Amino acid sequence: MSDTKKAPKIIIAIDGFSSCGKSTFAKAIAARLGYIFIDTGAMYRAVTLYALDHGAIRSGIVDEEAVVRLLGEISITFRFNPERGASDIYVNGDLAEGRIRTIEVSNCVSRVSAIPEVRSKLVAMQQEMGRRRGVVMDGRDIGTVVFPDAELKIFMTADPAVRARRRYDELRARGDEVSLEEIERNVRERDRADMSRAVSPLRQAEDAIVLDNSHMSVGEQMEWFLREYERVLAAR
Ligand code: C5P
Repeated sequence: MSDTKKAPKIIIAIDGFSSCGKSTFAKAIAARLGYIFIDTGAMYRAVTLYALDHGAIRSGIVDEEAVVRLLGEISITFRFNPERGASDIYVNGDLAEGRIRTIEVSNCVSRVSAIPEVRSKLVAMQQEMGRRRGVVMDGRDIGTVVFPDAELKIFMTADPAVRARRRYDELRARGDEVSLEEIERNVRERDRADMSRAVSPLRQAEDAIVLDNSHMSVGEQMEWFLREYERVLAAR
């Protein structure tokens, strides 16, 4: 493999469906290349958590105007956590990493992320974070809206049943009392909502390459990635 320290820094955009293992994949790539990993889903989840904590979402109903009013007081920052090998997310200085992954947040996040004002605030932050390149960013609209000029765009997909099982195992391992049916319903519903929203819907960028990892190990995905990365560098 080429010397990644000397190689020019690029932007790697990873988009795709919920619970495809985008973050695991992106994190491994960032560690391998010495890049910064940015999980943009965590940012939409952080806004959702704040809205839940501050009464802008009640009984699952999202009050969009109230969410927009709260936006000005939400400050999102990342701090590298060496134990996880990734950055933890903080909301107004408070660690939010553990609380943003609950099923309560998952059930509301697609509605919060469809609010145009939420998107423009977070997209501007993401563009600023990638200004110097050398980032691996995962989300739904990275290759289409945030960095349409990213040098390497990957669109990840996997069988919904496989994805639900992975998310279920992850939540159960943390001790969350969830059912597989509930998770599969949430995964399918988020896919539908993310693809059909008016602003920045989830779609494959024309120049993205598809990675279906339903039956691939993490090691196989890395081998696949390194071939694509070399191809992009060679073409420059
Ligand atoms: O990636 P993750 O599943 O944590 O993302 C949570 C939700 O955040 C998605 O279902 C989607 O509604 C929203 N999202 C988005 N745009 C992004 C990243 C996430 O709309 N770039």
